This record gives sequence, C-alpha cells and structure tokens, in this order.
Amino acid sequence: MPSRPKRDLLLLPLVQLFSAYCILVGMALGLRSPRLVVAGNGELTSVESLVANRRVSQALAAIDKLASWTTEQQILLTEIPAPTFQESARAEAVRKLFAASGLRTRLDGSGNVVGERPGASRKDVVLISAHLDTVFPHGTHVKVQREGRRLAAPGISDNGAGLAAIVCLARALHEGKVRSQHTLVFAANTGEEGEGNLRGMRKLVETYRGRLRAVIAVDGAATDHITTMALASRRLEVSLAGPGGHSWADFGMPNPIHALARGVTKFLTTRVPASPRTTYSVGVIEGGTSVNTIADHALVKVDLRSESDTELDRLEAALRKAIEAGVAEEMAAAKEAGHADDVGIEIRYRSLGERPGGQLPDDAPLLEAVRQADRHLENQSRLERSSTDANIPLSLGIPAIAVGGGGRSGGAHSPGEWYDPTGRELGVKRILLTVLAVAGIEP
Ligand SMILES: [Zn+2]
Repeated sequence: MPSRPKRDLLLLPLVQLFSAYCILVGMALGLRSPRLVVAGNGELTSVESLVANRRVSQALAAIDKLASWTTEQQILLTEIPAPTFQESARAEAVRKLFAASGLRTRLDGSGNVVGERPGASRKDVVLISAHLDTVFPHGTHVKVQREGRRLAAPGISDNGAGLAAIVCLARALHEGKVRSQHTLVFAANTGEEGEGNLRGMRKLVETYRGRLRAVIAVDGAATDHITTMALASRRLEVSLAGPGGHSWADFGMPNPIHALARGVTKFLTTRVPASPRTTYSVGVIEGGTSVNTIADHALVKVDLRSESDTELDRLEAALRKAIEAGVAEEMAAAKEAGHADDVGIEIRYRSLGERPGGQLPDDAPLLEAVRQADRHLENQSRLERSSTDANIPLSLGIPAIAVGGGGRSGGAHSPGEWYDPTGRELGVKRILLTVLAVAGIEP
C-alpha cells in the first residue's frame, strides 16, 4: 500500500463520520443512493413487480409475437459477412434495426453501433451488447440453409443468435412502451473474436465508465448458463526468420519451418493441470514460399488459457523455452551439415491479445437479477467460466455477465454451425427481465 500523507490520516475519520451522517440523514428522508449499496439487492427492482407492470407484460408478449420476425433478422445479419476488423456492413444493418426501434444510434470510433434508450434518470447506464464479428474469413459461404426449423450457416449462432436477441429485445421494449429508470445502451460491438482483442467492448467501457451499472453480453444461443467468471487468455505469435535457400543446393541450411516444427513438437509435450483448468492450442501455422525453397520465414499463432494467472505465465514460459530449444536443435543440425557459419534463425514474439480475468461476486445484484428471471421463467442455469466480452468490465470490477440469446445450437466456429430457434423467446425474456431488474422501470 502506498504511504499516505499525515494530513489525510487525520481527515479520514472525519470523512467517514460525515459519510455515515449523510447515509443516516438519507435514510431518514427515505432517499436511496444507488451508489451507496455495494452488496445485497437493494438496487434491484424485483422480477415479481416487473411482471405485474402492464408495459412490461406487453413487451414480454411482443417477444412471442416477434418470433418469426426475429429469425428473419438473424438470417439477414448472418448473411452479411463480418470477419473481425471488417464488421462495418453488418454494423450498418444493425444500426437500421436499432433506429427502427426508436434507439438513438451512432457509430463510435471502434466501429461499434450504439443505440441509446434514455431512462427517466439519465445518469446510470445498463449496457446490453452482442458482438458483430465472426471467425470466418471473407469469401466464406454464409448463405443460410433451412432444414425445417434448423438453420445452418457459419456464424448463425455465434453471434447471429446474440444479435437477433438484442434486436428483438430493443423492439419488444419499444412496442411495450417500457420506460426504464436508468438509460439502456444497446451495442453491436466489434472485435470479440480472434485478434480483435475485445476492442469494441474496451471502447464501450471507456465511453460509459463511471456510469455503468451492469453489462450484459449476449453471445450465442442457449439459456443454460450465466458466465460470471472471466477466463484469462493470452494469444501469441511466434515468427522465425532465416537466410532461405535452394532445397537441393543449400541442403542443411537452417530452415525456420524445420525449427518451428521442432519447437512446436516440444511445446506439445507440456503438461497442464486439470485444475486450475489450463489449455493451449496452436491455431495457425504458416510460412515458406515454395516447395523447393528453404523457407526464410515461418510463424505460429498460439492460444493459451487458464483459470490461473500463474499457470498462464508458466505456459507462456514453456512455449518460449520449447521454441528456443527447437531453434537450437535446428542450428545444431545445420552445423553438422557444414553450415556452421550461416546466418542463424531469429525469433520474434508478438502479443496478439491479452484478455484479463475477473469474477462477478456471488452476492452481486446483477446475478440475483438473472436468478430471479430464471425462477420466474422456470429456467435452470449454472454459473460458467469463459472468455467473452464480459472479461473487460469484470476485470475492472464492473458487474457483468455473458448469457446466450436462447434457442439451441451446435458447431460454433465450424462450417457446420447450426441454430434452432425453438425456445428463443425464453432467452430474450430472460434478458429483458434481467435488464429491467437492474435498470428499474418508471413507476
Ligand atoms: Zn461469440
């Protein structure tokens, strides 16, 4: 702890006395300052009282009525390609949908579409987000195939389902003429996947910091989980560069592809604990120029994840050590083949992103809000740890969760991805009740 000047030490008890006095006076006057309540559920509007409200009931009924419309919007958005860093066309389509539901829309500096729905008191904000981007590169066939109720297309669930849920939510609130106490901010954000490094969410949190009451990230399908624990991850690119040469004439020359293959093989023998769960994956490997050329470059992109920061450090150290050993082995082989004096292999590490960890406390009002919504809707769910947009607010101590948009899905991040909207309404109602429990409604 940093040392504190003596003057502050004297002031501290006075400040505490004054705060206590203010709280007591506030209580006596029947005032309630939302910021004073750190734990407990004093800030929540109960789901019971929400569903008794006529406008909220209208909004809930609208979700059922909008079922097929919502699926049409999901198909429309999924068929607009949106690889990470190229989300603008899909963003524009979401902006139109937001505007049609009465939201005040704008694009921010990170390419996020933001739609504000001002509350009665405009001070605090509840942010409801869904990421725009997909892991599929441009040129991927994204036309949605229908087979009965089942929809198939890359990105149809992740995050077609999340986007459809927030678009439906915005429209249902509009049709129900619900007026919230605090401001609702809808955002279709950029950069959740791959190397996006959560850029969209970082920007949103920076914009609304100090006003954020809660963040609800809607990602994928399902209603069976509440992501309250943010899984820390690290993504690294390791690139090797060498002199290059002719495959026949220069045989034995240090080859970055050989060195990388040796290093990666060593890294793959790294043991990781089951608890704290720790994982790794070599996601991309590339290099070389032609089949009969000794490559002059090669690279890998590696994803490291762990429930523990210590394990993450250990894993990164193991990766570096394995690559260095692979390069040393390749250089020893080159020496043996008479290439002792050749230029060596240069190693470069580059961070492709770092997602900080964090956790929503068990007694957070936001968690109580989802639980009340689940009880009311007779939905079963479990707490989950995952790497999502919620990592950013959670790492800063801002209450946040990630939930699914309802319905069922499979094959995320694969060409066989599918989605079935059966049960989607439950997912959207669950989000609506959670949001309003935290944001409050105008009496
Ligand atoms: Zn996703």
